[in-house]
Amino acid sequence: MPQYDYDLFVLGAGSGGTRASRVAAAHGARVAVAEEYRVGGTCVIRGCVPKKLLVYGAHFAEDLRDAQHFGWDVPSPCSFSWQRLRDNVLKEVDRINGAYTQTLETHKVDIIPQRAVVTGPNSVRLADGTEKTAERILVAVGAHPAIPECPGHEHGITSNEAFHLDAVPKRILIAGAGYIANEFAGIFHQFGAHVILANRSQEILRGYDAQIRDRLLQISMMKGIEFKFDAAFQGIEKLEDGCLKVSLANHDPVIVDCVMFATGRRPNTEGLGLESAGVELDEMGAIKVGDDNRSTCPSIYAIGDVTNRIQLTPVAIREGQAFADTVYGGKPTTVDYECVPAAVFSHPPLAGVGLTEAQARRKLGSVKVYSSDFRPMKNVLAGRNERALYKMVCDGDTGRVVGIHMIGPDVPEIIQACAVAVKAGLTKADFDATVALHPSMAEELVLMR
Ligand code: NDP
Repeated sequence: MPQYDYDLFVLGAGSGGTRASRVAAAHGARVAVAEEYRVGGTCVIRGCVPKKLLVYGAHFAEDLRDAQHFGWDVPSPCSFSWQRLRDNVLKEVDRINGAYTQTLETHKVDIIPQRAVVTGPNSVRLADGTEKTAERILVAVGAHPAIPECPGHEHGITSNEAFHLDAVPKRILIAGAGYIANEFAGIFHQFGAHVILANRSQEILRGYDAQIRDRLLQISMMKGIEFKFDAAFQGIEKLEDGCLKVSLANHDPVIVDCVMFATGRRPNTEGLGLESAGVELDEMGAIKVGDDNRSTCPSIYAIGDVTNRIQLTPVAIREGQAFADTVYGGKPTTVDYECVPAAVFSHPPLAGVGLTEAQARRKLGSVKVYSSDFRPMKNVLAGRNERALYKMVCDGDTGRVVGIHMIGPDVPEIIQACAVAVKAGLTKADFDATVALHPSMAEELVLMR
């Protein structure tokens, strides 16, 4: 008779929790996963997947406009149905949710469609009051949008609700200027909204290379997206006509139809009972873990956004895999956080891997930077005055490429291969020794000066 109900009880069936559950079960563990909302988590249900599909939809606005330069007659104005796109996207989300659920079922993981909270090192309580025990608990409950404390914040939405809107707002103010703000600014702008981004600081996309972010800012402003900086959020007042009056520090009030908060995401640790097992949190509320994903309670582990290491799906998946392989597969594995590529699916998108120029200068001292600032061929024929910018940051002494940063069409598709090269420690000379693929945008990578 086993001592516990399960070998492993996973809280949260998002990207990380699903991978860990499936792999642990494949290694022979008896696994249950509790999910309070829908299997798939942030990425599948209300993040990366539906967002990327909206980005695809949004791109047609410019593509259809450009098409006339390529000989196509497209009626002007073209009509666009938000409801049709939204419903198709939500249908696709349902399909992937089904596929994730099926994967877990195939691996004989018990899916418990309820919230579970920790009640001790080896026990959890489900929403219906049932107690379950497990030799180990894995917390993979993700994060939620942080909303600044301010009067009237309840009148705003977050990216969670953006996928379900009845209509595209005519005027939207997005608070924040990070990933989500810039991606949704592009989406709503292309669908015809007047978009205002208001950020508390003077920067967009902190952490990305300065020149690349500046290029996005310039292009976004040229397209008609409005930016307000040093604009700490002060409050929202709902007017009689239903419009929202937004107060911002250092700026006149703004009247819009919708306010969206994109001001970072916080780990979902509140009310999770972690204190009952002595699990320590950091000042952001994230679970503190070691390289082996173990918390301060030896039987409780945590992966993904709830640990606030790098809030990206592929990182959570790696952590889930590493946890399951280490604990149940006899294959001790740690995740390597160096050279994780990232992209912002803005219009145009930007992407980067490795050190920015500023980071490299601080870390290495001697740095050489190569760049290519060019107008993609398609943009030239389309009469679109949008230039792409690629940057390669190298160690000045060895020529090793330590970072690549890009903005322009399709750069997220290009950066993945760059990440292999940067991770492999290739040098500028290795890039130069590679013959260009012509005509392409990516060929600029081997032609940089
Ligand atoms: P980000 O961390 O990217 O940006 C947060 C923005 O909100 C910044 O502009 C920041 O300003 C501002 N901000 C933070 N706190 C406050 C506050 N209290 N009041 C006012 N403004 C504030 O967060 P997002 O919400 O855009 O995204 C969350 C995370 O999700 C990202 O960090 C990323 O890891 C992940 N993500 C990844 C995507 C991708 O891979 N393409 C897409 C979407 C999300 P300041 O400039 O002052 O710091």
